[in-house]
Parts: sequence; structure tokens; C-alpha cells
Amino acid sequence: MATRVPDFLQGGGEMGSLMRAHDWSRSSLGSPADWPQSLRTVVRLMLNTGHPMYIWWGAELACLYNDAYRESIGAERHPGSLGRPAREVWAEIWPIIGPQIEQVMSGRGATWHVDQLVPITRNGRLDDVYWTYSYSPIDDDASPGGIGGVLVVCTETTKQVLAAHQLTLERDRLAQLISERARAFDAMRESEARFRAALRAGRMGYWETDLVARTRTWSDEAMALFGLSLADRKGKVGGADDEYLASLHRDDRHLAAHYLELAQQLDTFAADYRVVRPDGTTLWLSGRGAVTARGADGAPLRLISVMADVTETRQAEQMLAVERQRLRLALSAGRMGAYELDIASDTLWWSPETYALFGVSPDEFTPTRESVIDLLDPDDRPRFARRRRLAIAEHQSFFDEFRLKRPDGSRVWIGYRGRAEYDEQGHPVRTFGVVMDITERKKAEQVLRDAGREKDDFIATLSHELRNPLAPIRNAINVLHHLPPGDARAAWCHDVISRQTAQMARLLDDLLDVSRLTRGKLTLRVQRLELATVIARAIEIAQPLIDGAGHDLRVELPPDPLQLQGDLTRLAQVFSNVLINSAKYTPPGGTIVVTASADAVALVVRVKDTGIGIAEEHIDRIFDMFGQVESASSHAQGGQGIGLSLARKLVELHGGTIEARSDGVGKGSEFEIRLPAARVASTAHVALSDTG
Ligand code: ADP
Repeated sequence: MATRVPDFLQGGGEMGSLMRAHDWSRSSLGSPADWPQSLRTVVRLMLNTGHPMYIWWGAELACLYNDAYRESIGAERHPGSLGRPAREVWAEIWPIIGPQIEQVMSGRGATWHVDQLVPITRNGRLDDVYWTYSYSPIDDDASPGGIGGVLVVCTETTKQVLAAHQLTLERDRLAQLISERARAFDAMRESEARFRAALRAGRMGYWETDLVARTRTWSDEAMALFGLSLADRKGKVGGADDEYLASLHRDDRHLAAHYLELAQQLDTFAADYRVVRPDGTTLWLSGRGAVTARGADGAPLRLISVMADVTETRQAEQMLAVERQRLRLALSAGRMGAYELDIASDTLWWSPETYALFGVSPDEFTPTRESVIDLLDPDDRPRFARRRRLAIAEHQSFFDEFRLKRPDGSRVWIGYRGRAEYDEQGHPVRTFGVVMDITERKKAEQVLRDAGREKDDFIATLSHELRNPLAPIRNAINVLHHLPPGDARAAWCHDVISRQTAQMARLLDDLLDVSRLTRGKLTLRVQRLELATVIARAIEIAQPLIDGAGHDLRVELPPDPLQLQGDLTRLAQVFSNVLINSAKYTPPGGTIVVTASADAVALVVRVKDTGIGIAEEHIDRIFDMFGQVESASSHAQGGQGIGLSLARKLVELHGGTIEARSDGVGKGSEFEIRLPAARVASTAHVALSDTG
């Protein structure tokens, strides 16, 4: 049976064709020709709009939709759902839409939903689908309650919703980013504040030099160091306006060019110089420069410099250097050296003076405990080691003296004074101290010891000497006692007594003079003298001894009188001592010659004998106090070792000198006495006979 297609199903694209071709007889709607007017009206509307529309109609809520709606329902429902009951088609989402449809159908009004999530399966996938839709009642008088169906006008808003979601997400992310940036910024500000505080604490500053723009950007801290205050922290580079160059100490200004040269080769380099601030104070700065940008040819374009004020350190270093220098001077003035031994590492440090004292060179000699001990005199080694060990064990400072043979063969005495430092357990950690050259002191001690011994010898000899004349004197007195008055032997007795007492008196006078001289109590009675007078007086004293030994005395003085200033008695004493020695130390029958001469400044008197002579090694000692030459003959002559010492002191008191010469034992001696000549010549002339 051919049925004419009703007008309201005309058009409508695919869905129009489908609806026209549909076999409606099997559906609850029945033939379109019988559809109520209100349904027809809405269907025509639906098929002829580009908006997605949907209709549920009748008790079964049969599904009708247009082309625009097709897209949203997928292959699962298109085209199969056309005319079928809503409850079957939309079973999946019935819990959501069922109640809403029910609301409309029961006359409780339309619904309106914006961006409602209605997840549906379409094209094999469960999609989250968003809809903005309304369910509106379609009036139909024939239907129960007057409502025949529901018109759904809808738009799928999934894309917009998702886009809006995305937007929200991105906004959130942005917000998060912004707050992160803000936090980072805060953190940066905080760290910059910390950095600046650190700069200030370290008295440091930095600046950047732009070699292209020829500007320098200073940090506040750097300006504070240089005492500068520049607008915008901007300074100039090069030329007379360069604040940096102008601040450099005059003696360090050349370094600026040097650092630029370094920057050509190195990415970072050390810098060290002084700046003079506007208030006149000088600061030592120390730090580094770093190249932050280079041109294609490698030339530096920008540099950053970080410098710290090290003035205090430098001053302390300078002080230390000065003190070290002072200590060094003090050590070398005291001929001392320093040492330090680190016990744990067993390393020994010596100051340069110590090397010098030990006569070794730091280039060739490494001081160790063993190498140092080897330099010591073998006899001194065990004692040195023992004392040191004991002192360290007893926490005492130690002192020792030892002999040393230097590599060049010279021998020295070294004094050694030190102490140890201990850890908390009382173990020695290091020892340190000084060494000093005590050779001279040791020599002086030896001289003193020798002098002491000589004094003992002298006292022994002197006792003999003072006792010797007493025996003949006592003997002579005894003889005198038994002689009848007028006996001729009395004259012999007198002679003996006067000779012996004269010798004793001379001895005692010499002793008295020596003691006066050593105590500085002897004064000269100086007057203008003629040498001949002095010599005549001396011969007078020595004559008995010279005659007694049968010597031949010759006196050869120049014809013109020789003048001098001096103490007659003392000078006569000098010459008589020398003459008496010649008489004593010359075997009987010898010859003694006295000669005199003068030049512009001095009178020279020589006394030469043909006596026993003096061995070369003794020449220097005979003028020493008690400086007797150990020989049988000198002792036999009864010497005390006073005469020449006294003679030398008296000559020196007169500003003169006395020297001895001898060609050796048995070859005679010669004594030469030089005295300053008196300036004004005198015409007085004293003739001298052989015998004085
Ligand atoms: P003394 O003669 O009393 O011992 P001196 O001081 O006069 O003391 O002399 C010191 C020593 O010098 C003498 O002991 C002697 O050994 C030596 N001496 C002095 N004069 C001569 C001399 N003319 N010839 C040899 N020896 C001399």
C-alpha cells in the first residue's frame, strides 16, 4: 500500500529521508499520517533547523532526532535508535535523564542544564560528554495530562567545557608558576641580602668593567671600600676620569695595565694592590678578576672584580716581618741561632744563623737528630744526649755546652738551651730553643783557670822568695851576736843583711806597685826629663847585680839629649827591671848593651844581652802577670814573674810600648821600649859616664 509522505516530513537531510523511509507501523507512534498536530509541528521544526534537537514522544517516549543531533550519539544509536523507546536507547544514562523526563512529562515544568556531564558510550568508547540542554514539554490535548512528549534542544559543550577546564588548569598552573616565581624572587632577594651582608662582613666589594662601553658599575660595597659615591653606581673606564685608576696608590698604578694584560690570557687572575681613599687613608685590597665576556678575537669585553680589604692582615704581616727581622738581628748580634724539632714527624728546623754557627750550608746539610749529633765532638755526644733526655723527661729546660768541629776544620764551643712542649697526656710534642757560640767565653774561662793556676804557682814561689833572704839574714845576725866588738867580720854581716833586705824591699815594693796598678791607684808624677837621667838612675839600681855577675855593660846614647815627659822613679824602675833581667838571665861574663835613638814621635831604648834567650812560644807570655817561663835557669835566678808585667803597665801608663825579641834559646834577648817624645826640645845636656 503506497502512502503519500506527509508534508511535515519533507526536507531534513539524512534524518528526513530516514524518517520518511521508516516503517512506523511497528513503532508506538504508528503511521505519521496519524500523528497529532503538535507532534507534526515540532517534528517539522526539528527537521528544519541546524540546532541539534531531539524528541521523546508518547507513553514509550519514542526517540526522534535531527541531523545536527546525529554527531553526538555515535554508531551505537544512529540510526538504530530512531522510533525506539527512550528507556532502552538511553538505559546507560537513565538514572540521570529519567527523572528529568519524568518531571517534564508529569507537567512539573521544563528543565535547563548547563554543561551537564552525561557520560555516554559512543563509537565504542565511554566518553565524558558535556551538554547544555533543556527539556521542554510538547503540548498534546489527546495525551494524559495534556503533555505528549519532550523536546530536547541541546548543544554538546564537551569541547568548550574541556577547553574551559584546560583554561582553569592553565590558569591554576600559571597562578602556581607566578607564586613560584614570587617565592624564587623572594628567595633571590633574601640570598642577595645575605650575599651583601657577607660582602660587608668580609669587607669586600665587586664591580664590573665594560671595556666596550668604557663604563664601570660599582657595587655599594666597592664604593664604600674606595670611598667613592657615584650617581647610579656608574663610573668611567680609562683616561683622567677613571675613578678606579685615580684611587690606585701611586706605586701600584702600573698594575692596572698588568691586570688587563692578564685578562687577555686568563679567565681569572689574582690581584693585589693599595688604594688611597679621598680621606687619605690607604687600604690594601686583595682578590680576583674574572673575564665575563670575550669578543670573537678573544679580547676581554667585560670583567668582574671582587676585592677584599686586607689592610689589617697586611699590617700584621708587616709587623711580623719587622719583628722577625728584629729577632734575627738580635739572634745574630748574640751570635745565636734558633731551632725547633717536631717530635711526631721528627723534622728539625734551623734558622739561618744556626746553619752559620754549625758552619754548614742549608743547600748541603739537612739537620736531623743524627746528622747534628755527628757534628759534635765524640766526647761530648753521650753527655749531651743524656742531659737532653733527662730534662725532657723531667719537664725541665735543658742547657749544655759542647765542642763542635765544623766542616772547615775550625773548632767552636756551642751553648745549647731549650725546652720541650707537651700534649695533654704529658708527651713531648716539640722541642725548641737557641744555640749560641760560646767559644770566646770558653777561652776566657780557660785564661781565668790558667791565671788562677799561675797565681797559685806565684804564691808558692813568692813564699820561697820571701823566706830565702831570711836565712842569710838570720845567719848574719847570729854571727854578729857572737863576734867580739870591732871584729872585721861585722862588715860582712852588714853587707849580707843590707843586700838581702834590699832584695826583700824591692820584692815588696813591686808587689805593692802591682796591687796599686791593678786597682788603678798608681799615679804618675810626670815632669820633663832627659832620657840619660832616667837610664843613669836605672843603672844605679841594677849595677850591683851586673857587677856581681861580671857582665860588661855598654851604654850608647846619641850626643844630643833626648827629652821626654814622665815619672822619673817609675821609668827608672822599668829600665832597672829590664837591666836586672839581662843580668839575671845572662851567664856570668856576658855583655849588656843599652842604645837609644829618637824620631819625630818616639824615643826608642833597646837593652840587648848575650844571655839564655827566650823560646819563640814564650815571647808573648813573659809580660803577663806571673808569666814566668818554665825553665830551670829562670827559677834558679829566683824570678817571680812580676817585673816585666809591671814594666809593661808602667810603660803603657806613659803612653808607650815594650816588646821582647830573641833569636831563640841561648841566643840572647833584646827588649825595646818606646816612649812618646816630648814636643819642645831642650838645650840641657847631661853627660853620662859608663858607671852612671
Ligand atoms: P822574673 O824575672 O821575676 O821571673 P819577669 O817578669 O821580670 O819576672 O820576667 C818574666 C820571665 O821572662 C822571666 O822569668 C824569664 O823567664 C823571662 N825573661 C825576662 N827577661 C829575660 C832575658 N833578658 N833573657 C831571658 N829571659 C828573660
